[in-house]
Amino acid sequence: MNNHVTILEIDGNAILHNLNYFKEKLKPETKILAVVKAFGYGSDAVQIAKFLEDKVDYFAVAYANEGIALREAKIETPILVLHPQTQNLQSIVDYRLEPNLYSFKIFNAFLKLADEIPLMNYPIHIKFNTGLNRLGFWHTDIPKIISSLKETTHVKVHSLFSHLAASEDLEEKDFTINQINNFAYIAQQFYKHLGYEPMLHVLNTSGVVNYPKAQFDMVRIGIGLYGFGNDEKETSQLKNTHNLKSIISQIHLIEPGETVGYNRAFVAKKPTKTATIPIGHADGLSRRLGNKKGFVLINNQKAPIVGNVCMDMIMVNITKIDCKEGDEVIIFNNQEMIQYIADVSETIPYETLTAISQRVNKMLKV
Ligand SMILES: *Cc1c(COP(=O)(O)O)cnc(C)c1O
Repeated sequence: MNNHVTILEIDGNAILHNLNYFKEKLKPETKILAVVKAFGYGSDAVQIAKFLEDKVDYFAVAYANEGIALREAKIETPILVLHPQTQNLQSIVDYRLEPNLYSFKIFNAFLKLADEIPLMNYPIHIKFNTGLNRLGFWHTDIPKIISSLKETTHVKVHSLFSHLAASEDLEEKDFTINQINNFAYIAQQFYKHLGYEPMLHVLNTSGVVNYPKAQFDMVRIGIGLYGFGNDEKETSQLKNTHNLKSIISQIHLIEPGETVGYNRAFVAKKPTKTATIPIGHADGLSRRLGNKKGFVLINNQKAPIVGNVCMDMIMVNITKIDCKEGDEVIIFNNQEMIQYIADVSETIPYETLTAISQRVNKMLKV
């Protein structure tokens, strides 16, 4: 814990509520992979993984170092590394992380390493590109992959997977169903030639909502755990998990004609009371929220941000709010506030959450 008073409280009970919301949409035997990449969507992957380790089957991170952090915190759950790079393969093995092998370059590098060590039946995952065109083998690569796999006992395929490009968008239903069908076909071909049947998974959060029939053996839930569904109606059934708070550092009385902040962006027209709050764009609060576009809550009242958002601070107008230095400030504590910040910042809640920087204290509460 650092001593920055700005803190992100992570609501463990809300995460549990959200997990159960999605579990109810799934068959009891379908496995759950909790996506905790990007510091658990801007929170704290270690605290979240510790909380969820007895409640889910798998974790996924984007990069090897994120998985290493979980292992160093004694998380023993299987961890899928979605985007390993060749220079990290040795540490992936050292920390018993499970690589997604998505191209021949990384697949061959891993097989070579597995042969040198040597490993025995080391769990790997193979990703197929079915239309996102980001990472993954093509279905035409299957024969070559299979023939390499048949020659080795060093690795064992634990799962085959793919990722949907537009699972949240029902106008892209035909495209998505085509992706799912292609994936099912690829899996069938793979099974036929491999001789054993790895797990299959293709759905992210919005996939679970819109295409539950394609749950296969496991689903990968990220944003849903953190309180966001496909639309407002669904989000309202989920609970907010990220509560960002701070305290008032200082209060100023500004005379008419005086200005506040960099570039003198706010000019007081009448006597104005402002509060300085220790959170700025380096903490993940977008500069686009400056000049009254964004607000915070103090004593349950809206205090608009005046002037520009600084790197480390904002100033807010508290002329009509009864408060004192040291009082609590809510940056956001519900999904509407997060969605509002995302809208004003011209982005989506994914980015608003993951932007919360490492300087902010993170604390999971149950
Ligand atoms: C990030 C990610 C997910 C999680 O997606 P959400 O929309 O947050 O549920 C699932 N699968 C892959 C491959 C990802 O990169």
